[in-house]
Amino acid sequence: MYVVGTAGHVDHGKSTLVHALTGIDPDRLREEKERGLTIELGFAWLELPSGREVSIVDVPGHERFIKNMLAGAGGVDLALLVVAADEGVMPQTREHLAILDLLDVPAGIVALTKCDLVEEEYAGLVEADVADVLAGTRLAGAPIVRTSAATRAGLDGLRATIDDALERTPAKRDLGRPRLPIDRAFTIQGFGTVVTGTLLDGSLEIGQEVQLQPGGLRGRIRGLQRHRTKVQRLEPGTRAAVNISGLKTEDIERGMVLALPGNLKPVRVVDVRLTAPRILSHPLAHDAGVTLLSATAESEAKLRLLDANAIGPGESCWGQIVLETPIAVLPRDHCIVRTPNETAAGGVIVAVNARRHRRNDAATLPQLERLLAGSPEERLIDLLASRPLAVGAIATSLGIEPAEAAKVTAEAAARALVVELGGMLASGAWMNQATSRIEGATSNYLDLHPLRMAVPREHIRSTAGIDATVFDAIVAYACSMGAIEERGAGLATPGWEPRLTPAQEAEAERFLRTIGEGGYSPPTEGMPGDELLAYLTERGLIENTGRGVVFDREVYGEMVAKVVRHLETHPQITIAEVRDLFGTSRKYAQALLEHLDATKVTRRSGDAHVLRAGVEARR
Ligand code: GDP
Repeated sequence: MYVVGTAGHVDHGKSTLVHALTGIDPDRLREEKERGLTIELGFAWLELPSGREVSIVDVPGHERFIKNMLAGAGGVDLALLVVAADEGVMPQTREHLAILDLLDVPAGIVALTKCDLVEEEYAGLVEADVADVLAGTRLAGAPIVRTSAATRAGLDGLRATIDDALERTPAKRDLGRPRLPIDRAFTIQGFGTVVTGTLLDGSLEIGQEVQLQPGGLRGRIRGLQRHRTKVQRLEPGTRAAVNISGLKTEDIERGMVLALPGNLKPVRVVDVRLTAPRILSHPLAHDAGVTLLSATAESEAKLRLLDANAIGPGESCWGQIVLETPIAVLPRDHCIVRTPNETAAGGVIVAVNARRHRRNDAATLPQLERLLAGSPEERLIDLLASRPLAVGAIATSLGIEPAEAAKVTAEAAARALVVELGGMLASGAWMNQATSRIEGATSNYLDLHPLRMAVPREHIRSTAGIDATVFDAIVAYACSMGAIEERGAGLATPGWEPRLTPAQEAEAERFLRTIGEGGYSPPTEGMPGDELLAYLTERGLIENTGRGVVFDREVYGEMVAKVVRHLETHPQITIAEVRDLFGTSRKYAQALLEHLDATKVTRRSGDAHVLRAGVEARR
């Protein structure tokens, strides 16, 4: 399915030509739409000699032309530039041509209209003039077809030329991730909410759950229409009307994008390769306030130029655009930058939501260059430089088809440039970096806590700044590389052993002896520091109740066994009973019972404590 968009100066005969070609009057469609009779806006369709069906988009008005071309951007396969033979090239002809150029519209044809009004010789002069204007643009050398809607001369030739040009246009890409930038939302009596737009990057089917971005609202597809025909499924590249249940029309705005849940995110910052049209009248300066338009979305924005202070007519530079309101775009999408006066630049988005770039930065500019023009493998490596990504997200992030993404990934993996970690893909460079961060976090911690056997994993994860989704996998990798070792639930540097100083050893020995002698009522004065207590706990020599009472581990074992035995023959136990059981004081009895609660041997029940289910069996 292909989309043809008309362009050209006002009154040069665009609508009349579309009507003559298709038998559908775009102006009548507009009236019908205004009266709520049709859901398509200025869209006619046509079957070409080859049997190929195309949508023709023809929206009146200059402002609306720009928005409409953008709405189709990524959707318009062929521009039909209309020039009236009696007037020739006019200012809007040039501006539309500049915009088609900025948007990289893949192909174009010029229809020289109203040829019935001029002599053939004159038409020849206009034709030569048009060819001059096209030179140096994407439409250079495009076919120019003489037509007249009045006499119908040249219409068959125009149809054949369109057919021929589309024959050479690549099919719409299918990334398996449909998105539909919404150009209109309205309510139809008896059906509910309907949105229209050009479907890109994948197919939609009745019954699918969908999500709008920005905003994240969800609904379900109840009906699909293409050229006023109901269909079960729509392929990418189609002008579509989508009937959605579960969403109110007033919650939907032009510029939102309909996609499958989770596939799109709101974007606040875009990195773009910008080019100014050759007819630019005022240079575009760094830090200018601009309007960014992409597909049907629009936002006020601040433009930061990264490698220039201003761009003049025909010049290009790198820009980082910070949006006032988020929009849902993807790398490789086209955009236009407008100032209040004119279309000031256009270009390709190469990255979304990147961090703030320093201007004229020697590392940033080549990286942006690779994002624009690098091979898929180079872009993959760049993409993974700062973080791993879900394998399933690679194709969309690179803007390539899933099969190609799989091929590029496999080749990069074969050369050890990337590694798959439990559903995530990481670059080899990132793996090495992450490994050394983990190694550093581990040895720093052990330097500060030389009595610990191991470092808690969560401490390492947050210190090294590694996402929880990939942490286990990267730890496994770091272990396999011999950078760290697993120790129980924690991690340590390979061969690590806690070291006591001679003084600490003496202190530990003295302490163990006194609490051992203290039995059920060990002294609570002269306790060693937390580090030494943790060390003795990790070695299973003491039981620290955390309530100022530390028992010898063997004594503690006896106490637990005694309490459990008591609870096997009694429904519950109180602090006073524990005190009497061990001939100790209330302080120890309370510390013991609370610790038994905390370690899930017992649980509190009113003023007493009862055995937890399962404890009996465990002991
Ligand atoms: P648009 O603004 O480019 O869509 O122009 P329209 O299609 O509305 O046409 C503008 C005027 O030119 C109308 O009055 C048309 O009737 C007239 N017109 C369009 N095409 C032709 C043509 O091939 N021959 C003649 N004689 N008049 C035409």
